[in-house]
Amino acid sequence: MTEAQVVRFHQTGGPEVLSYETATLAPPGPGEVRLRQTAVGLNFIDCYHRNGLYPLPLPSGIGLEAAGVVEDLGPGVAGLAVGDRVAYCLTPIGAYASHRNYPADLLVKVPAGVEDEQAASLMLQGLTAWYLLFRTYPVTAGETVLFHAAAGGVGLIACQWAKHLGVRLIGTAGSRDKAELALAHGAAEVILYRTEDVAKRVRELTGGKGVPVVYDSVGKDTWEASLDSLAPRGLMVSFGNASGPVAPVSPGILGPKGSLYLTRPTLFHYIADKAERDRAAAEMFDLVARGVIRTNVRQRYALADAAEAHRALEARETAGSTVLLP
Ligand code: NDP
Repeated sequence: MTEAQVVRFHQTGGPEVLSYETATLAPPGPGEVRLRQTAVGLNFIDCYHRNGLYPLPLPSGIGLEAAGVVEDLGPGVAGLAVGDRVAYCLTPIGAYASHRNYPADLLVKVPAGVEDEQAASLMLQGLTAWYLLFRTYPVTAGETVLFHAAAGGVGLIACQWAKHLGVRLIGTAGSRDKAELALAHGAAEVILYRTEDVAKRVRELTGGKGVPVVYDSVGKDTWEASLDSLAPRGLMVSFGNASGPVAPVSPGILGPKGSLYLTRPTLFHYIADKAERDRAAAEMFDLVARGVIRTNVRQRYALADAAEAHRALEARETAGSTVLLP
């Protein structure tokens, strides 16, 4: 038996419901490995789980992403060895832990040249940027796109990836400092959406045409402006709710605004296939190892201080990625 430090919650609510506990870990079961986790990725979805927007059976662990070292192999595990450096970003939930058992087939090996902390900040946010830009709406060089919260974890990766692909990314950001950061990572333009009229600025920046796609993870506060920024037959990609969920809508609103398309994608449906997930992760790690995409771990907290990390993320105090260190 191994002792693990874990973060759990017994009721939904604010960051204060997160409790730091000691748990006893059984030996890894069939198909599982035991991991000693060195860095845990903080993601906005963790807040949705904690506050009940995405309900979980309680009490619950929390967290979907971490990197670490394989410490022990359960029966039937092939292709992994004790000492391998690995990372993941899928359920089962419970990444906020010093040690855990995890299904071996969901792990990705972390190559030399990529630090554990980088891997923990990349798997979920980087694969999100990947599927948005390559699968939900496959961008092409020369296109202009609108990407909200461009200085956030997903945002800074998307800025760099878009630039690498020759795509002109118009970002939005909540402050001048965040706008500078997004510009330094490849955004072509940044709109300060707390003070500027987003749809009007997008029209100005696109010669009145609007954009073929809006990637919107802010939700409630940006919904209307996002639809109004689209060119006819444009695609609204609503992939998050940082400001709160979008109110129910009638499909009828999409017609007069230009025969628009709407999708509400989720990472897990895009990386369910192991071969595709491994290929996408390898491509992403390669871009990081070659310096094309810089990771941006700008906040680090001890795992025991996960509640403080949640508070900062929800208060819009963070930029780039945040990791929790067991
Ligand atoms: P971020 O680091 O981007 O943090 C969220 C950012 O949203 C904030 O920093 C803030 O930036 C902006 N924001 C705007 N309004 C608010 C508000 N009212 N409260 C809080 N933040 C606000 O987080 P992540 O990179 O972890 O995730 C980005 C988004 O993408 C999240 O909404 C997340 O749920 C979503 N997501 C969706 C996935 C999917 O597959 N559907 C997968 C991964 C992430 P600013 O101050 O510049 O406004």
